[in-house]
Amino acid sequence: KLNENVSITGSDEISQLAKAYNFMNTKLSQIEKQRREFVANVSHELKTPLSSMKLLSESLLIQPNVEVEIYKEFLMDIDSEMDRLNKIIENLLNMVDMDEEKLHLDYKLTYVNYLLEKVVNSIKPLANEKNIKIILNQWEKIQIYLDQDKIHQALTNIIHNAVKYTESSGKVEVSLFRRGQYAVIKISDNGIGIAEENIPYIFERFYRVDSARSRQTGGSGLGLAISHQIISLHQGMIEIESKVNEGTTFYVKLPMEYMLGEKD
Ligand code: ADP
Repeated sequence: KLNENVSITGSDEISQLAKAYNFMNTKLSQIEKQRREFVANVSHELKTPLSSMKLLSESLLIQPNVEVEIYKEFLMDIDSEMDRLNKIIENLLNMVDMDEEKLHLDYKLTYVNYLLEKVVNSIKPLANEKNIKIILNQWEKIQIYLDQDKIHQALTNIIHNAVKYTESSGKVEVSLFRRGQYAVIKISDNGIGIAEENIPYIFERFYRVDSARSRQTGGSGLGLAISHQIISLHQGMIEIESKVNEGTTFYVKLPMEYMLGEKD
């Protein structure tokens, strides 16, 4: 069968060729498997809000005399499901653009401090709602070349998660400092944490440690995949430390010199 690898022990030319063929074959089936999984995941994610909307509208339609208040309530639920659907599609389109490297980063010399302030301020209402304290520590001014919108998005996803996966009355601390050749943005929470065995997967598309919980909070499992993609496009990296029931710390590292060197 063509799609099965044969075991090869020799080292002659034919064997070398067969080994290369086997290698390619394995790679291709891995890609094909990933593609199938991706399509299945996308379909599932799109179907969930659609099913809820269908259910909501159907139950409204079968009732003969619906009070205006009930109508409004249902419509509000439908509206928030549509928002969810919209967000998922937006995220997907964004990711596909980045995959195809269509996305040209719009580098601008930027104070990371101001960008962080903006992100933290946009998340404050949600934190206040949960009575979570967000602290922003900025000991120095750091200016680097980056795509402001993209980094804003990458940091928003991570800081938003810190609030989302922390119980009310918790604490989220965001710090900016320079370490060696990197500007480091450290995001610590004292939330639910991530078990060691789950950490390797959290940047994968659609991966969620607890899908029921994540869905409840409006998550689709794409946020960290997108953040990772954006930070990688900036030649940066993300590191994680976490302990279940104690909390999680993300380190986003953006190179200082690389961008400057490229632009100067
Ligand atoms: P989601 O939309 O589900 O939040 P993400 O890609 O943003 O998806 O995150 C993937 C998963 O990683 C989440 O479902 C959650 O289980 C876990 N996670 C991310 N950030 C944190 C955090 N700060 N604390 C605990 N778990 C987290």
